[in-house]
Amino acid sequence: PLTTTDLIEEHRICVCVRKRPLNKKELTVKDLDVITIPSKDVVMVHEPKQKVDLTRYLENQTFRFDYAFDDSTTNEMVYRFTARPLVETIFDRGMATCFAYGQTGSGKTHTMGGDFSGKNQDCSKGIYALAARDVFLMLKKPNYKKLDLQVYATFFEIYSGKVFDLLNRKAKLRVLEDGKQQVQVVGLQECEVRCTEDVLKLIEIGNSCRTSGQTSANAHSSRSHAVFQIILRRKGKMHGKFSLIDLAGNERGADTSSADRQTRLEGAEINKSLLALKECIRALGRNKPHTPFRASKLTQVLRDSFIGENSRTCMIATISPGMASCENTLNTLRYEEEVS
Ligand code: ADP
Ligand code: MG
Repeated sequence: PLTTTDLIEEHRICVCVRKRPLNKKELTVKDLDVITIPSKDVVMVHEPKQKVDLTRYLENQTFRFDYAFDDSTTNEMVYRFTARPLVETIFDRGMATCFAYGQTGSGKTHTMGGDFSGKNQDCSKGIYALAARDVFLMLKKPNYKKLDLQVYATFFEIYSGKVFDLLNRKAKLRVLEDGKQQVQVVGLQECEVRCTEDVLKLIEIGNSCRTSGQTSANAHSSRSHAVFQIILRRKGKMHGKFSLIDLAGNERGADTSSADRQTRLEGAEINKSLLALKECIRALGRNKPHTPFRASKLTQVLRDSFIGENSRTCMIATISPGMASCENTLNTLRYEEEVS
């Protein structure tokens, strides 16, 4: 098991994988668990015990990451090793980002805590709420208290290359870049928050706005990126920013061959943004002078987060354990390896 002494503190980029348990549906159809996490940083994709032909998936592959969390790991534990170290970054005038990446149904929203359907989980234990809790705790520390910082939150989604404000009735917003390459989402609502409960209320509002008029929450969230930000301001000026992003389902990239034009376009857009994201994070990790942030709306609005001395990122790849998800799982693991 992981202990806090395993914590990697000085990473610009942290890449990890979280396996969820087999769900009821998978158990009913007797899907098999093909993922083993033999140590705290290794993920194995292997033949299940029962003999089934898995050769088309290239069996027994091993992947290595900063951390690998098995299906018994709690959100609190995942948080402690991923987003928690980044809370300091924003108090230290830095930019922090945390992404949940993976196929639809693998646990992105469960991890982030953006699901307010009330059925499955307690949102106060997702990464949004845990990060907010620690921001408010840090504010009380004497050396930060004297800075007199204010906390604000934004919540928006990016769908088919367009930005919609989830805290303002899904208003469609423009993204502008000025001469100094500063990127601005024009008119984005920034709401002041004073405690974790304020943050949870905003997430609930944003989430109901996000899915209204949709056949199902998952059908919509699989096609859009949700960006939740905690912003620290000092005398009105930005001090630090933490962006927490629940990405569109990565299996949607395969929709580029769909018969339906709209689905095809959405698939292409998602592909483009996830590829751009990979390139931007790689550039950040390698201290490259050029970051290709203009390649997609997602990376463009997150430009600040990829550039600058004090930017740090973590990516949590969520994976399903079932054999039926094997192809998507392998794609997720390969993407993560390329990011790191
Ligand atoms: P995604 O956002 O990636 O589409 P969800 O977070 O909605 O996936 O997860 C799909 C279902 O699986 C939900 O019912 C969720 O509660 C459940 N689930 C996901 N991850 C876990 C986990 N680590 N432990 C228990 N249940 C999980
Ligand atoms: Mg989701």
